[in-house]
Amino acid sequence: MSVTVQEPTVRRSDADGVHNEIPRGYSDHVREFVPMDLEAMRPKGFIKKCEDWSGSLTQKVLDGKGLKEVTACPICSSPSSDFELEKFGIAMVKCQDCTLRYSRQIPVDAAELYSDEDYLPILKKGYNENLDYRKQRFGVERLDLIEEQMESGQDKSLLDIGCGTGWFLECARERGFDIAGFDLGTEVAAWTADRLGIPVWSSSLDEIPSDRKFSVITAFDVLEHVLDPVEWLRSAMTFLKPGGIMLLYVPHFDSLSVQVMRDKSSLVTPLEHVLFFTKQAMQTLADRVGLELTYFKTRGIDMGDLMSFFEDQGDEELARACGKLYPYLQPIVDGANSGNSSRYILRLNACQV
Ligand SMILES: [Zn+2]
Repeated sequence: MSVTVQEPTVRRSDADGVHNEIPRGYSDHVREFVPMDLEAMRPKGFIKKCEDWSGSLTQKVLDGKGLKEVTACPICSSPSSDFELEKFGIAMVKCQDCTLRYSRQIPVDAAELYSDEDYLPILKKGYNENLDYRKQRFGVERLDLIEEQMESGQDKSLLDIGCGTGWFLECARERGFDIAGFDLGTEVAAWTADRLGIPVWSSSLDEIPSDRKFSVITAFDVLEHVLDPVEWLRSAMTFLKPGGIMLLYVPHFDSLSVQVMRDKSSLVTPLEHVLFFTKQAMQTLADRVGLELTYFKTRGIDMGDLMSFFEDQGDEELARACGKLYPYLQPIVDGANSGNSSRYILRLNACQV
C-alpha cells in the first residue's frame, strides 16, 4: 500500500489574534502538527487484532516457562505499589514513589516472547511496507529533533539500539551520520548489518567494543520492554561521548488515550511492555544513573486510538467523530504533553565525565 505524506491541515491563524487566549506554545503545536494517515495506522479492527496478538503471546509464556513475581519498582526499588489495572490476568501496578507503572509478573524467560522462528520474514515484509512514508514522516521528525538538541561541535556518530531492519539508520546516514546498530534478534541484526554494510551488534550490549563511543544513542520503543532499566541505561550510557545525548521514545502512561482506554489500549501489554513511564519515573531513572533529563515532549495518535476504541465498542458515531477531529484535537493533546508517545533526551554532561 502506498501512502502519501499529507500536508498539515490545521494552521495557526496569525491575523485574527484568536489564539491569544490559549496558553503559549499551543499555536506552535498546531503549526508543527503533521497528521498521520489514520487509515494506514489504525485500520478497521485494530484493537481486536492487537488483543489477539498480545493474548497469544501471553498464552505462549503461560504454556512455556511461566511467570515470576516482581516485588519492587524496577527503577527506584520501592516495594510500595498500588493496583493500577489488569490485562490477560496480569496486574500492572503504580509505584508509590516514582509513579512508574510496571508489570507485577514478568516472563521467567523473556526470550519466549521474541523467539518466533518466523520473526525475520515478518520483519523483512514489514520493512517494505510504507517504507517511504515511515522515512519521511518519522525519520525526518526524529533527525530534526536530534540535530536541534546536539551540542555544537559534536561529531555525527549515532548508535540505534533496537534498530530492527535499520530503516531509521538509513535516514540517519542520508543526513550525514556515521551509523551503527544493535538488535537483540541475531538474525535481523545480521541481515541489517549485511544490507547496510555497518556494524550491528546483537545478543548483549557487552558485545559492543568498549572503545566505541557515539554522540547520539537512540532507542525507539525499546525501554518499555526492558526488565532492568537501571542496568540497561548504565550499560548503554558507557557508549556515549561526553556531551552526548540519548533519545528515548517510550509509550506515555499519562496520556489521553491510555487514561480513557485503560486495559483496552494497544500499549497496555503487560508481558511485552513491562514498564509504563511517566515523566516523574523517567526523571527518577535519569537521576539514578547520573544523566540529565533535558527534553520531554509527547506526540501521539490518541485520537486515532480512541477512534479504534469506540469502533471496538460498537459506537460508530463516536469513532467517526474522533477520526474527524483528530487534526484539530491531537495538537491540543500534544501541546498539553498528554500524547501517548513520549520523547526524552538524557544528556551526559561533559563535566560529569
Ligand atoms: Zn519507583
